Amino acid sequence: MLPVIPGLLLNGITYGEKQLTLVLTSGHPVVHCPLCHTISQRIHSRYSRKVAGLPWADKRVIMELNVRRFYCEAKDCQRKVFCERLHPAITAYARRSTRLEHYLQNLALQLGGEKAAFLLELLNIHLVSADTLLNLLKKVAIADTAIPKILGIDEWAIRKGQTYATILVDLDTRKPIDLLPDDKLETKWT
Ligand SMILES: [Zn+2]
Repeated sequence: MLPVIPGLLLNGITYGEKQLTLVLTSGHPVVHCPLCHTISQRIHSRYSRKVAGLPWADKRVIMELNVRRFYCEAKDCQRKVFCERLHPAITAYARRSTRLEHYLQNLALQLGGEKAAFLLELLNIHLVSADTLLNLLKKVAIADTAIPKILGIDEWAIRKGQTYATILVDLDTRKPIDLLPDDKLETKWT
């Protein structure tokens, strides 16, 4: 029923009218310090963190992660305490899984911010504003700096009938390259 995320153990599921909450803990007995890579087993403390994932049927999915903090035992390491790193699908400090984030980015790219936010709420996938979708697209644009062979230029609605930005897309990879703050002709060609 659920995708397997290596290293995470499912401790329980809570069903709500619109939401499914998965309670997860890390199953790794030892972890590595992210700074010096020394192995540690000495737990400092635990905390709970919520990360949104892809929906299941008609329910939103929230992963409630019980994360551990560890002591780094290397004497010369500047990181005395660190949080364990989980699977790459759940990056440090992120509020959404990488799979959900890619889903939102693609939807925003195809539909624009306003329509994507409306559809996501209608299908009970994820509650997110048009501005947040724009920021997610900027993350993709910043990450991809290769010079495209074929460039697509399109208007992108941040809010219906109100604000338009210009999106530059690499038509080979279908990834956004940059987002310009308006739809004026002089902005597009500078
Ligand atoms: Zn360390």
